[in-house]
Amino acid sequence: MSDERVKKEAMEIIAEFEVLPRLVVFDLDYTLWPFYCEYLSKCEMPSLYPHVKGILHALKDKGIDIAVASRSPTPDKANTFLEKLGIKSFFVAQEIFSSWTHKTVHFQKLKQRTGVPYNEMLFFDDEDRNIQAVSKMSVTSILVDDGVDLGALRQGLTKFSQNRSALEKNKQRWQNFSKKRPLQKISNDLKNCVPAMTFSSSAAFSLNCSPSSSTRTRLMDSATTSRLKELSLFLGTSYPAWFSTISLAVSPWSDIKGRRISG
Ligand SMILES: [Mg+2]
Repeated sequence: MSDERVKKEAMEIIAEFEVLPRLVVFDLDYTLWPFYCEYLSKCEMPSLYPHVKGILHALKDKGIDIAVASRSPTPDKANTFLEKLGIKSFFVAQEIFSSWTHKTVHFQKLKQRTGVPYNEMLFFDDEDRNIQAVSKMSVTSILVDDGVDLGALRQGLTKFSQNRSALEKNKQRWQNFSKKRPLQKISNDLKNCVPAMTFSSSAAFSLNCSPSSSTRTRLMDSATTSRLKELSLFLGTSYPAWFSTISLAVSPWSDIKGRRISG
């Protein structure tokens, strides 16, 4: 299929969705191109997966920003290949550096650089460990099998749309809940529920897991568990930034059902 044809189909797919990401982020190796760039010489002429160019053009035409997040140990080669392929100028941001983290630092930098919140990003990568780590940041993340193609684009936009509508529902649920129960009341509830956790009221409120291992292995009784389950019902979401802090801290509680605090 020609680039023009792919672009046309990609435009049609994008047009099916009312809610679109503001930033689409791509890994490089085995996502945009079928090789690890550290194993290629800069002199070689690289190639992209067949649908990539058309998809990038379509996103650009639709006004959706695109960026790169790569853990390549050879950013100089990656940049050379992006230039050779004529796509370097497509990206509003490029974070290409090796890292022990599974792209969480890459995404922190992308957020700083672009100002786009995590929940308005869509990410494609061929490594599950990156997908797992970045999903936890509230970025809609899609594992690609054999490079980005039109199928992956549709899958990504569908999942993004589902995540956004879940977010809106949670937002509504949260608004209804907080109308009924003032924040201070919720704050006290949390303090009572989890005395071993450090808790502080800030702009809204934030909750931090204590770093001590004794806290993490504290047993909880069933009354505490049921209250935590109730709290996690409305806290277990990623809306908005301070809310996701709580979400990260609280979400393990609902899973452990009174056994161990493993967060
Ligand atoms: Mg890769």
